[in-house]
Amino acid sequence: MQQTQAAISDTQGNFSIQTIDVGKPGPGEVAVDIKASGICHTDYDSMNWDQRVVMGHEGAGIVTAIGDGVTTCDVGDKVLLNWAIPCMACPMCVRGHQNLCMTQNTVTAADPANCAAHPESTQLDGQPIYRSFAVGTMSAHTVVKEAAIIPIHVDIPWDSACIVGCGVMTGYGSAVNSGKVKAGDNTVVIGCGGVGLNAIQGCRIAGAGKVIAIDLSETRLEMAKQFGATHTIQAQRDDKGLLKAAEQVAQLCGGIGADVAVEATAVPALGAAPLAMVRSGGTAVQASGIEQEITIDMNLFEWDKVYINPLYGGCRPTIDLPILLDLYAKGELLLDEMISKQYALGDLGQAFDDMHHGRIAKGVIMFD
Ligand SMILES: [Zn+2]
Ligand SMILES: [Zn+2]
Repeated sequence: MQQTQAAISDTQGNFSIQTIDVGKPGPGEVAVDIKASGICHTDYDSMNWDQRVVMGHEGAGIVTAIGDGVTTCDVGDKVLLNWAIPCMACPMCVRGHQNLCMTQNTVTAADPANCAAHPESTQLDGQPIYRSFAVGTMSAHTVVKEAAIIPIHVDIPWDSACIVGCGVMTGYGSAVNSGKVKAGDNTVVIGCGGVGLNAIQGCRIAGAGKVIAIDLSETRLEMAKQFGATHTIQAQRDDKGLLKAAEQVAQLCGGIGADVAVEATAVPALGAAPLAMVRSGGTAVQASGIEQEITIDMNLFEWDKVYINPLYGGCRPTIDLPILLDLYAKGELLLDEMISKQYALGDLGQAFDDMHHGRIAKGVIMFD
């Protein structure tokens, strides 16, 4: 057993930094020294899950030991940790929809028991404790399943590497994999937070003609330009369903609307907004996970429009995450620019506070 510091949730909305014991990797498992761990809203939510967990699901680090039968990485390798592990055997995986894996998706985040391979390998006060999404990256040392490992084959700082697997993938994949943006397409991204900025990058990298960013905030629209927006529209709070903004989009797109629009605001009232932005036959993508009941004017569907709500940007981890790393290495995918602040593990409370007050776009915990 190796002793290490970790952020532990308490099921009551709080966390504490505690010393945990981490065992050697069993068969098919890999031990990793975490170098950086991204901080996102899911981590905040994990403090209210039914069970205490080692927090954190976005991580990058160095392999320190491998268990029997591990073939895809070796000691000393730099790796990303992937929190969404498709089973590759269920009917959805067999059909190529790894992001819709039925095994993985029956594992609710609040019930980590189903996704942890070998919980005995991590102990708090002599009792096994689960790791968030079976990775638990807010811990200087962790043991994970081999399937959670994505080797890092490019030169990339730890903080930029650790964020690839969550909001970056969701935004990029919602535009490129799900929206199928192609060269010359006119595109719209509504909401320029973490997911939206990455949808903007996805549109730019796919060769979109116009990339129109819409947000309430002037600051966010400035960031949108940095990430690839060719045009910006500052939304007005009283513009119901963004119908006025949609008129501006139509004007910019030859009077017919965009080919693809991605919604990334998580505001339920804007669930139909991407439909208003696209031309007949266009594609509306709702990337922000709106699940509330809303009323939609069916005229917005006219005509021949497609509406998609992709899960995790259609991610096939072993295919898409290396692509994102390659795009970073080529200078096309901006990651360093996404990170606004680094924290020590002990400053996690401050990091959550900064996140909630909009003081940072993306925070990362650095180890050593
Ligand atoms: Zn599956
Ligand atoms: Zn995340």
